[in-house]
Amino acid sequence: MELRRFFSLHTCRRVVCLSPALGLILNAADPSSAILNDLEKDARTVCAINRPLKSGARRELRTINTIILHHTAIDTLSGSLSTLRSRGTSYHYVIDTDGVVVHLTPLNRVAFQAAGANRPAIGISFVGGVEPTWRPTDAQWSAAKSLIAALVRRNPNIKYLIGHGDVRDTNAGEPYNVNFDQLLTELRNVRLQHLATNQEPLATFRRSAAYLLEHPRTAAEPRPSVPTPERLTCTGGKIRILN
Ligand SMILES: [Zn+2]
Repeated sequence: MELRRFFSLHTCRRVVCLSPALGLILNAADPSSAILNDLEKDARTVCAINRPLKSGARRELRTINTIILHHTAIDTLSGSLSTLRSRGTSYHYVIDTDGVVVHLTPLNRVAFQAAGANRPAIGISFVGGVEPTWRPTDAQWSAAKSLIAALVRRNPNIKYLIGHGDVRDTNAGEPYNVNFDQLLTELRNVRLQHLATNQEPLATFRRSAAYLLEHPRTAAEPRPSVPTPERLTCTGGKIRILN
């Protein structure tokens, strides 16, 4: 980590500074830390995972143009994280049922969230979605709006907001019962578009996703057993242990 950046951030003249513990976990030079700082200013509790999830290639932030929403299809944060580890998949953020935002993967790394659309996208997933009748809790809904607004404020190249179900028909309806029109209306001062399936870049994402489904690149590697418990560092340096 760049110590000079870290200390300049924490002896900074800004009104609110990222808590040192989160800065240490995230690397203050990573733009991800600025997003969490924004959320803390909104009085949101944010956490960072202490052991990174599997992620892919490094990317330039200006190449990101899309946010993809998911549900984890598991009703606990700890279960969601252990499943991500065992499958070698990742999101950039997961939002727990109580609205706590957990940062999982640096924004300047591609996450393995939506095959066919990963490279220019940020993945945000709600914990939940086991049943099709599920819907995000009020706390998750509110946290998602704060997170999306913070991301777009920091990166105006983000233009599109879609669901994983828009990218791949086998994930139809994901995330369940999220009304994108309502979400976009409630995201005041944030200009985003929910794309129809024939609009670009979604049409290209869908073609790539369909191709990858039919032509899997490699057989899944066996992954090492998942160590528990999961340790998170949260607002104010609080440690959260997930068993
Ligand atoms: Zn998904």
